[in-house]
Amino acid sequence: MNFAIESVSKCSGRLGKLNIKNAFSNVTLPTPALVLHSKGGSVPFLSKEVLQYLTSDPPPMLHSLTNTDHMEEAIRACGEGISSFVGQKDSISLLVLKDPAELCKPSFHEKDFVPIFSRSGRKNFTSERYMQLVEAFKPDVFVPLFDGDTDPESSKKRLQKSLDRTEKFVEQCIEAHRKSTNLKQSSLLGPIVGGYNLKLRKESVKFLEPFKDDLGGYVIAGLHSNGSSAGDLKESNLLEVVSHACQLLPADKARFMFGAFSPGIVLKLVSNGIDVLDTSYAYLKTQQNRALTFSFDVHEKDVESRETELDVRDPKWTEDFNGFIESCSCLACTKHTKAYAHHLYNTREMLGPIILMIHNLHHYLEFFKAIRKHVKEDTLSLLIEHLQKQKDAPLFEETSTDKAKSDLMDSGDNVTKKLKV
Ligand SMILES: [Zn+2]
Repeated sequence: MNFAIESVSKCSGRLGKLNIKNAFSNVTLPTPALVLHSKGGSVPFLSKEVLQYLTSDPPPMLHSLTNTDHMEEAIRACGEGISSFVGQKDSISLLVLKDPAELCKPSFHEKDFVPIFSRSGRKNFTSERYMQLVEAFKPDVFVPLFDGDTDPESSKKRLQKSLDRTEKFVEQCIEAHRKSTNLKQSSLLGPIVGGYNLKLRKESVKFLEPFKDDLGGYVIAGLHSNGSSAGDLKESNLLEVVSHACQLLPADKARFMFGAFSPGIVLKLVSNGIDVLDTSYAYLKTQQNRALTFSFDVHEKDVESRETELDVRDPKWTEDFNGFIESCSCLACTKHTKAYAHHLYNTREMLGPIILMIHNLHHYLEFFKAIRKHVKEDTLSLLIEHLQKQKDAPLFEETSTDKAKSDLMDSGDNVTKKLKV
């Protein structure tokens, strides 16, 4: 994995090109970029063919250990790694530990393992066990095992333990990576942990310095507990940590951050120097029956009355025969109407979330095109102001029907047994 910076602007972050190669692909991503959040090896609700309608050049796929570990035996038997097993041979694969769209509560940690909760229950991964799985998955990019289960509530003692354990796991995984012949082409992302403690963040960056040549980039982790928690963070605290870490990290490597951050936060993460994020926000909104409607065209007028998202179940759409956004060119908005989507949701047809996900993912990918344009022109602050003018939709409140649907979708991906630290 190679990263080349094209420009760094004073207030809008940086523009670059991230190149990732494997035996079948040689992908160059313009950054700020997105990777595709996936579950069980594919983008939720979308077949590979529908995904190709959305983007002729699909971004790399983000696989999480929590929703793919049950496939290990089959992937090992297949012998060609996770991309080939899930029918995405020509796509770049990234392996991380936790699904950024699924809320997970802190769990009991021991010094020698990281607990992972998946549909096959709780598994304690040591570095050795984890690297055996990585050898079978053959991802193009992966994180080493690390303890990033911290959030704004974590104590100093917990953060110190997270750092100490991460250092040990990272050393062991880098050692295994150096010896591996199977993973010669795979790149490692160095995890920066330490929660909201700036001193520990600095120590975490310093620890990785001697391993710079082993790392293709960095991931800033340990800031939230995934799922909706990424949208509930106090912005000033989050940006202080991210800005601090980005200033300490080498400029010539890409910085990743995973989580379902709101569009406003995404813009500020980019302006602070983050290069790669993921599409879990589009999925999370689909799970909340919401269509993304925020405007990212700064020339659009009268956006003060515009809501950033709409609830497809709202009866007011019963006779609205327009797409989710009238100017949207996605497959869902050009072929279907809000009235039809509303009907599909009312009658619980499977096509409902498919249509919604097509629109939400398209909208989010287009949002990133606009971000790149504004970074290039150093006008990201205009986009931030434009977004701030719009009306936030009422907060999503989960009903018992939503909860049942979510449980069915996850089929055990969520933590079922929660333990205190
Ligand atoms: Zn659309």
